[in-house]
Amino acid sequence: MTTQKPLLLALATGQASLLDEPVRMLIGGELADAASGATFPTYNPATGAVIANVAAGAAADVDRAVQAARAAFGHPTWAKLTPASRGELLWRLADLIQRDADVLARLETTNNGRPYRNTRNGDLPGIIKHFRYHAGWATKLHGTTVPVSTPNHFVYTVREPMGVCGCIIPWNYPLNMVSWKIAPALAAGNTVILKPAEETPLTALWIAELALEAGFPPGVVNVVTGMGETAGAALVAHPNVDKLAFTGSTAVGRKIVEAAAGNLKRISLELGGKSPNVIFADADVTAAARQAVWAILSNAGQNCCAGSRLFVQRHVADQVLDTVVSTMERLRVGNGLDPETQVGPLVSQEQLSRVSGFVAAGRDAGAELLLGGVRPAGVADGGFFLAPTVFGKVQDEMEIVREEIFGPVVCALEFDDWDELIARANDTPYGLASAIWTRDINKAHRFAQAIQAGTVWINTYNMFDPAAPFGGYKQSGYGREMGEAVYELYTQTKTVWVGLNGVR
Ligand code: ADP
Repeated sequence: MTTQKPLLLALATGQASLLDEPVRMLIGGELADAASGATFPTYNPATGAVIANVAAGAAADVDRAVQAARAAFGHPTWAKLTPASRGELLWRLADLIQRDADVLARLETTNNGRPYRNTRNGDLPGIIKHFRYHAGWATKLHGTTVPVSTPNHFVYTVREPMGVCGCIIPWNYPLNMVSWKIAPALAAGNTVILKPAEETPLTALWIAELALEAGFPPGVVNVVTGMGETAGAALVAHPNVDKLAFTGSTAVGRKIVEAAAGNLKRISLELGGKSPNVIFADADVTAAARQAVWAILSNAGQNCCAGSRLFVQRHVADQVLDTVVSTMERLRVGNGLDPETQVGPLVSQEQLSRVSGFVAAGRDAGAELLLGGVRPAGVADGGFFLAPTVFGKVQDEMEIVREEIFGPVVCALEFDDWDELIARANDTPYGLASAIWTRDINKAHRFAQAIQAGTVWINTYNMFDPAAPFGGYKQSGYGREMGEAVYELYTQTKTVWVGLNGVR
């Protein structure tokens, strides 16, 4: 294969003269244009400029990728590789990601907007750890021996890969999402077809090249770029895909469950959230308020576990909101490549319009706009920016409290007592994450019991680790990523019965 890394780099650094040269997919170890020849533009959200034209894959391309992944799954260079060798390949991939970390972080920031200080110092080290963690799992996917009560039989289980896995990922944390999906899938011996979001296709292509360089056989990691409704939908419906892992909106998740029914492929879904972040008066209120700022503003609020419903006990509400507003006012919003930038743009004009629509709806409904809601000063004209936004005097039934906004907009809600708080915090179709700030250990653990969410943070927020399972309750999805739990998604159990009757 020939590499397109130099092209990706040149485009990411603004070489518009190269825009005629399309960024290609990676299928069966080869760079590939879309069968149709079509491309779509991808943007730098900080400037609004087109940075690349990317192959617009569709059903024919997905089919090619599925064939490549199926062939690789059965080929001895992958199928007969020992678990230890799979682990070594994953470790080598981690080393290559470490080697290219500066460039990958820059490419991620340029295509997604997230500040370089976060992509380089937060995401990349986490991703490297993630691949190394799963490198270790390749040799630890044990079956069991089963103490059956049936006479003269010996029973054991083995864990086998699912087969060909389709992985559809969103644009908010593209590199993290690639690693959350492919590291465990590969450790377990599957082959994958990644469909990155149309907004942010570039870094997945770089990682797929690194996988080849690390020594994964061609066809083990494939990337089909394209639109959700075409490339994504074709992957979901394909009869030769065994498993589909999706991270994205609840609305699309619902469509995926329906569309995957044809061959009953296994589905896992990590969907939206409207997470309650609860501050009790007995917390370190100033520290909690400062953390509440980042609970919502991490990745400009484009975070499925954003602390978007900030519940504050009534008699400390003014103190908390003063701290939140004064902290947010001082933040630097701008181009993520600027080392001073703390909050970047939204990912697209579409997203900016959507979030701005929610801000307008909040004002119309009578919520009090305490900060933001406007374009911040001093940002590039074409960039997709919205200033950090705080709503007070919010009522539970308002649209801005019910719907996932996915932007830098926090709704502050006041509460008085425990039962009321728990009922209101759980009054949402979502159940992804939650947090409580209190010095009372009993209250903290009672909250952890009472809240309907896949993650509970106590006196902390937005913490992740490769060893800690993550996923949703209710309509935030099903299946758990990370930790040992993720292998439920990427392996299947075979039970073997051995009759011992014949032995004399
Ligand atoms: P968001 O609302 O955050 O943009 P989406 O759920 O729309 O998230 O997108 C997440 C991923 O799902 C993207 O890769 C997108 O291309 C893909 N996608 C969108 N619509 C569909 C669909 N109908 N079938 C399969 N994938 C889709």
